[in-house]
Amino acid sequence: MTSTPGAAPIETDAVIVGAGPVGLFQAFELGLLEIRAHIVDSLAVPGGQCVELYADKPIYDIPGIQVLTGRELTANLLKQIEPFKVPMHLNQEVTRVAKRTDGRFDVETSGGTCFVAKTVLVAGGVGSFQPRQLKVEGLEKLRPEQVCYRIPEPAQCAGKKLLIVGGGDEALDAAIQCSSPGSNGAAGVALVHRRDSFNAQLTSIARLGQLREQGAVQFIAGQVAAIEAAAGRLSAVMVLGADGQTRRVAADIVLVRMGVSPKLGPIADWGLALERKQIAVDTEKFETSTPGIFAVGDVNTYPGKKKLILCGFHEAALAAFGVARYVFPEQAIQLQYTTTSTRLHKLLGVNPPTLP
Ligand SMILES: Cc1cc2nc3c(=O)[nH]c(=O)nc-3n(C[C@H](O)[C@H](O)[C@H](O)COP(=O)(O)OP(=O)(O)OC[C@H]3O[C@@H](n4cnc5c(N)ncnc54)[C@H](O)[C@@H]3O)c2cc1C
Repeated sequence: MTSTPGAAPIETDAVIVGAGPVGLFQAFELGLLEIRAHIVDSLAVPGGQCVELYADKPIYDIPGIQVLTGRELTANLLKQIEPFKVPMHLNQEVTRVAKRTDGRFDVETSGGTCFVAKTVLVAGGVGSFQPRQLKVEGLEKLRPEQVCYRIPEPAQCAGKKLLIVGGGDEALDAAIQCSSPGSNGAAGVALVHRRDSFNAQLTSIARLGQLREQGAVQFIAGQVAAIEAAAGRLSAVMVLGADGQTRRVAADIVLVRMGVSPKLGPIADWGLALERKQIAVDTEKFETSTPGIFAVGDVNTYPGKKKLILCGFHEAALAAFGVARYVFPEQAIQLQYTTTSTRLHKLLGVNPPTLP
């Protein structure tokens, strides 16, 4: 959903900051309580870490589902919230949240969308994803297509020598993907990591081993110490090896895959009590130090907190009841089962057979 800059603010019951798995499930739990919500995410697609970091890897600890990938979980969650028609504002970061005199919140995004919301639910995970930067002199002067942090499009790689930096899943996935036959037509793929051991899935490490044996990936143990470039064009990277030797590795593109650094970003400026860069919440309703602002999922902290999707789902269920106190202050909110409640069936647009 896009917004028109300068348009009147959108009035809503709740704004969910973050479309990761917990933000998406939060929308479902709010929907069951008939609380109108909008979701905002700085990324172009929903799914948070599940899609950004491990889209095609298996998850085995979602209750009742033996195995599914990060992408499949996201698709299922999106399907689950369909009945509530929750507007999603992607590609825009929530930059400002401020309490109004009427008790509601002004919420603004980098895309110019403004909300007036009764409540805010921060489901910002590790924050806006910021790839860990490779700090080498002169790198910043190269064009973005010569130093990239995402796997380049095939057309950009064709006939080029690609040098990948990193030793985790992201780096190995990139090396495997870019060196596989018919993938992107790169003229060569080199992988540079501090040492010849990797912090990645065993299957990926095994596949990389095969590709190294076949000569499809050249591995160099060491650190990028300098670049060689003339007239803004990269020609090689100097790698300082663990043996103290510096090697020149020809390269047209440096692909940095050193993981993402957790950056809370603007969330840190909203006046919420933080503990070690996470938002402190109670464990009854997952409310923050500012009444009316809740925090769920990886972004929050409390005694015993575990950064697991299922924990975030539990938090979202209880936070929804906390939000309901602001949205329907006159009503006592009853817990209803989706199995038996005809009201919930109507909301979900389902018509199950009558139980015997
Ligand atoms: C490799 C890997 C494997 C994992 N495997 C498992 C597993 O098997 N089981 C399990 O339970 N957990 C697993 N996890 C952890 C799990 O992915 C997280 O617990 C989960 O993603 C947290 O969900 P979330 O919605 O709280 O946050 P996230 O998934 O981090 O999503 C947060 C979203 O908020 C957005 N955002 C942040 N700040 C703003 C802002 N200011 N404005 C707009 N948007 C914003 C971000 O762009 C992001 O999309 C794994 C994690 C990794 C890295």
